[in-house]
Amino acid sequence: MQNDTALPIQISGLTKQYGDLYALNRVDLTVKSGEFLTLLGPSGSGKTTLLMAIAGFNRPDCGSIRFGDTEMILTPPHRRDVGMVFQSYALFPHMTVAENIGFPLKLRKVPPAVRTKKIEDALETVQLSGLGHRNIDQLSGGQRQRVALARAFVFAPRILLMDEPLSALDKKLRERMQIELKQLHRKLGVTTVYVTHDQREALTMSDRIAVINHGELIQVDNPEGIYNAPANEFVADFIGESTILPLQQSNGSLYYESQVVCPTPETNSSTYSLVIRPERLSLQKPDNADLLVFNGTVKESVYQGETVFVLITLDDSNEISVRYGTNAVSSTSQLEPDTRVDTFLRLSDVIVIPGTGQ
Ligand code: ADP
Ligand code: MG
Repeated sequence: MQNDTALPIQISGLTKQYGDLYALNRVDLTVKSGEFLTLLGPSGSGKTTLLMAIAGFNRPDCGSIRFGDTEMILTPPHRRDVGMVFQSYALFPHMTVAENIGFPLKLRKVPPAVRTKKIEDALETVQLSGLGHRNIDQLSGGQRQRVALARAFVFAPRILLMDEPLSALDKKLRERMQIELKQLHRKLGVTTVYVTHDQREALTMSDRIAVINHGELIQVDNPEGIYNAPANEFVADFIGESTILPLQQSNGSLYYESQVVCPTPETNSSTYSLVIRPERLSLQKPDNADLLVFNGTVKESVYQGETVFVLITLDDSNEISVRYGTNAVSSTSQLEPDTRVDTFLRLSDVIVIPGTGQ
């Protein structure tokens, strides 16, 4: 949905040091109006620091943060018109559900009658209608997180920030809430920056993902772009499963063993690696396709419910992993260790990154 009040965020040269440590190192990032952008990175990579800088709770050493055309770097948090959700919920335990949700409206001096209506609407949006009178301690974890969400958007902020809001929930509830949050975002149309260290959550929810490591943005792209065209080994390894194999160069082409993989890309890197996603490999030879073939021996084959995971030692002693669906008609039989296998990769599924691999 288009939201007329949603604002783009333009971050440039943002740097924050703690002593010698760069929590943020010259971060440039644009979040489009109404977009759901996820900051994805391991623990300690700078995600919270960046989110807090956008909210105004910490002051960067240098750089710029604009909401629309307005520079915000010196604007205090309560003037930024930003809704926030934290991992810990941060609800007021002595207030009812309705009082919690109404709190930002009260701060903004919204008249009581309007407040009541907005609280009811927000309760309905997060599927908690009729629970406004409850105390916080009478709610489950998932319900508390919904209250925290409702409190973050009830005053129609122009930007919504969420810092690992689902990480305290168990897996099933977390996956359901991911879908709910995405639907909510679609309904509200508010520019959203979402933080997670969970790559699957990022792939599930985001319009675009910004991968961060050691305070630096590594790659910003939509989920397919991040998965299918990782910029480097860190991204290839952090998002999804992958095997990374070193490639050789000769006469303008990249080779694996004696097989041509692709023309050498025009970058300033002197080395390249092949990234293989396990589900792109096939143990049967695909018809009508240009292929790379890997010869090896099964090291381990593991049944995991919806898929079978096979680890193969190649004749050159590298290892690759293959994953296939258990509903695939021709692949129902389990592979015993030490079985000789040929594994096939379509050239159209080849991913090449700069760097030497492992
Ligand atoms: P993330 O949210 O990705 O886990 P943070 O943004 O919290 O990471 O932290 C980034 C880096 O900055 C970490 O190395 C962390 O230890 C450091 N850091 C964060 N806040 C402070 C602080 N107030 N004082 C000193 N170091 C900090
Ligand atoms: Mg954090």
